[in-house]
Amino acid sequence: MGIDDFVCVFGEVGVGGGIVLGGRLFRGSHGFGGEFGHVSVDPNGALCACGSRGCVETLVGQESIARAAGVSPVAGRTRSLTDELVRRAESGTPEVVRALDEAGRSLGIALASTFNLFDVQAVVLGGCFGPLAPWLEDAVRRTLQERSLAARSGTFVVLPSAFGDGAAVRGAAALSLHRVLDAPWSVPAARRRLRRGSPASEGERPRREVAIARG
Ligand SMILES: [Zn+2]
Repeated sequence: MGIDDFVCVFGEVGVGGGIVLGGRLFRGSHGFGGEFGHVSVDPNGALCACGSRGCVETLVGQESIARAAGVSPVAGRTRSLTDELVRRAESGTPEVVRALDEAGRSLGIALASTFNLFDVQAVVLGGCFGPLAPWLEDAVRRTLQERSLAARSGTFVVLPSAFGDGAAVRGAAALSLHRVLDAPWSVPAARRRLRRGSPASEGERPRREVAIARG
């Protein structure tokens, strides 16, 4: 059985997210649907770039975790920062394991609201959260059980993303494909826009293509 309702949280310098309902990405009225990184979990927390306080992003962005774990971020080398966190967590460094558990708890607090609102079946941990998932997922699961009626009453899974670094590119490609499949008649129009600036092609027959695609 596939999973059609899930939330994906994606950690890098900041934290991104997406909510998929019935197999489709939920965008909201203005494209901000699933702005998971700016769910506030501490009203008195650090000021966030979005203007709010205590957003998930201020607590569990890759560099925030590293800071809490006592690992100094190497400027411009975010990938090596995750590798370093994984290496130290694997060797059982207590402050790193503790910082990751705390990050998982913050993620769980924010996710509990998402579960209560949308009753999803799964959480996918992507970006830097993927390789860190072995040390995050217990706290995420535990906090969801504690704080979400929907999570406690139903069943859910916490999964590391299988897509690694290519997730954003694959996601963008999938979104484009969905748009084409949703409205195939929009493709000739998009192609015309791309060609703008070069001499107009007389061979284009957009009206006819519309008729064919709709038929
Ligand atoms: Zn924010």
